[in-house]
Amino acid sequence: MSATARVVAISGGIGGAKLALGLYRALPADSLMVACNTGDDFEHLGLSISPDLDTVLYTLAGIANPDTGWGRAGETWTFMQALESLGGETWFRLGDADLATHVERTCRLAAGEKLSAISEDFCTRLGVRARVVPMSDEPVRTMVHTDEGILPFQRYFVQNRCEPRVTGFSFHGAGDAHPSLPLWEALLADRLEAVVICPSNPFISIDPILAVPGLRGAIGDCGAPVVAVSPIIGGRAVKGPTAKMMAELGIPRSARAVAEHYEGLLTGFVLDESDEGAVGDLPCLTTRILMETEEDKTTLARQVLDFAGAIADKVR
Ligand code: GDP
Repeated sequence: MSATARVVAISGGIGGAKLALGLYRALPADSLMVACNTGDDFEHLGLSISPDLDTVLYTLAGIANPDTGWGRAGETWTFMQALESLGGETWFRLGDADLATHVERTCRLAAGEKLSAISEDFCTRLGVRARVVPMSDEPVRTMVHTDEGILPFQRYFVQNRCEPRVTGFSFHGAGDAHPSLPLWEALLADRLEAVVICPSNPFISIDPILAVPGLRGAIGDCGAPVVAVSPIIGGRAVKGPTAKMMAELGIPRSARAVAEHYEGLLTGFVLDESDEGAVGDLPCLTTRILMETEEDKTTLARQVLDFAGAIADKVR
């Protein structure tokens, strides 16, 4: 049985994985849990695909594709080419080695194993000494409401390249879902020192996690500081549709608006040195939050952990 975590990181995929890697390196082994969004998960070609879990797992294992941010490094594409030649669906790219992850997860789910147990076992097998777990073991599916109708997440994100105009989101299945047991135990444990909300998309990466009944309350009441890092720098997203979504939803494209989105949940907020410092009376750390190099990730992670420690007395 693994030890409970000292730090729980709440993460989506690419942006979240960058800080998760920094935290993994900044903390002693076996101290970190990364709780991942599974609202992006879907069933495709008969396989159960969990993009955010895999991005974080591959990143911490050091086998992520550095160019795409998703999938594995050094990937080959024989399966996709063969599938195309048979007239199969190829809009969602699955590399040959990546395919093994989806096949193995699908087999184990069909045999009755929980997604959290499978994810933790994949960590062990790939030599990751952090616990990468789903927000829930039950299916939650993000639906994107757009001017072209309601689209399942991957249809919006990958097939339509985030082009339709967003009007809102819903999280199918969230109402009946329960937090995954490892995450729940970590949030209740006395050992917990900080919860870090990674610089992930607030609407499609973090909100599905907070929509699982009980999780928002458990994070807020965990007794440790809850610190979010802004995914918005100087009014722009580093990557992906966060800023576009804010504009379409009529929300100012600013770090402050991200902090306000998490209102009532945060003990502190981390924003870029190029952005305005004050977010009401919320304690803020202003620093460089663009993670371009490996060193940037660890440096920011250390600063976030130090900041959490410094505001621990502000926890309600
Ligand atoms: P997805 O699930 O793969 O879309 O990834 P996430 O939701 O975890 O991450 C997307 C967010 O990461 C975007 O809003 C980006 O602005 C943010 N992001 C990416 N790189 C960085 C970075 O270096 N620093 C910060 N602060 N945010 C980043």
